[in-house]
Amino acid sequence: MTDFIVIGGGIAGISAAARLSAHGSVTVLEMEEALGYHASGRSAAMFEQNYGNASTVALNRASAQYHHHANGGYLTPRGLLLVAGAGQEAAFAADLVELNLHEITLDDAISRIPILNPATMTQAAFHNDAQDVDTDRMIQDFAKVVRANGGRVITKATVSAISKVNHGWQVTVGDVVYDTKQLVNAAGAWVDQIAEMAGIAPIGITPLRRSMARIPAPGGHDVTGWPMLMGVGESWYAKPDAGKLLVSPADADLMVPHDAYADDMVLAEGLAQYEEMVTEPVTRVESNWAGLRSFAPDKALVLGPDPDQPSFIWSAAQGGYGFQTAPAASQLIADLVSGNTPELDSNIVAQLSPARLR
Ligand SMILES: Cc1cc2nc3c(=O)[nH]c(=O)nc-3n(C[C@H](O)[C@H](O)[C@H](O)COP(=O)(O)OP(=O)(O)OC[C@H]3O[C@@H](n4cnc5c(N)ncnc54)[C@H](O)[C@@H]3O)c2cc1C
Repeated sequence: MTDFIVIGGGIAGISAAARLSAHGSVTVLEMEEALGYHASGRSAAMFEQNYGNASTVALNRASAQYHHHANGGYLTPRGLLLVAGAGQEAAFAADLVELNLHEITLDDAISRIPILNPATMTQAAFHNDAQDVDTDRMIQDFAKVVRANGGRVITKATVSAISKVNHGWQVTVGDVVYDTKQLVNAAGAWVDQIAEMAGIAPIGITPLRRSMARIPAPGGHDVTGWPMLMGVGESWYAKPDAGKLLVSPADADLMVPHDAYADDMVLAEGLAQYEEMVTEPVTRVESNWAGLRSFAPDKALVLGPDPDQPSFIWSAAQGGYGFQTAPAASQLIADLVSGNTPELDSNIVAQLSPARLR
């Protein structure tokens, strides 16, 4: 019998498991061979404090200290450059406020990303706040904490049945039945399936596909120091990655939970939008992938005990913010479960609570 079983070995599950391992015995069950195989292995790995709705921004802010300093820090400077073309003035103005960017001259924009096209770009804005996150190390470091506290991380462990029993829950993986007092549902796109298995009302999760193409460094430029480049209204973005450029069409297409892959047409549309703003054509796509960003109906995370069954704890709906919010989101779960007063404002805690969706 363990105190906590966590279903899901992505950033949501492994960070919650690490925090909970300070309060009791923990077992993480992950169906794939490795941690972070699904959404958590496919992200753009950005920490952008202003990205998301009010409760997400509160989690971002509360996570900043951890991102900057824990285990030597997970962040490296990147910056964010927004570009607009003719007719996009209103969307540009809205992004300026929402992302707390300041307008810069087109010359300044081109000095930062020399392939920007002065013939199509009409406005540009920038800030320094956006940072790259070392997502792989973050997952592995949380897993180390689980193991150091005596917890277990079990991969190739697909949960196929869950029953409520007097002492808590019985969780079936193959022919093994695990007993636990409390169950954490951190199954990403699959959280509603896990809830239904456990006889808990689903939250109405929508897994939305987002795709990425990796292209060679445009025109042979050294892209290492370029900021992340974004089209207005989050219509597409590009960011350097290991000497290459990642370009995303910023798609958000509703999918059933599955091992997501990119759609060629969607990628082509995104690459065309990017090409419109630059002087170097895309010569080839070296690789591509997609992941599912899973949202609650109100786009806020779902964190904490289920109102009908408090030993069933949600760590769900991380959307496009799973890494940037993980330090504070996992801490909130541990605080709520252990009875500690959360550091987050009580209004924010209520906005994140599963109870709001009932
Ligand atoms: C293209 C893209 C770009 C992104 N960019 C960013 C970014 O820049 N910054 C940011 O913070 N976030 C970003 N995100 C979002 C971030 O990746 C997600 O919010 C985060 O990874 C979600 O983590 P998770 O643990 O909830 O889900 P997942 O990583 O999907 O983990 C859920 C796990 O549950 C497991 N599971 C499911 N069912 C079962 C079962 N029955 N038994 C056992 N295990 C099960 C799955 O195998 C999976 O590993 C991006 C996402 C995408 C797709």
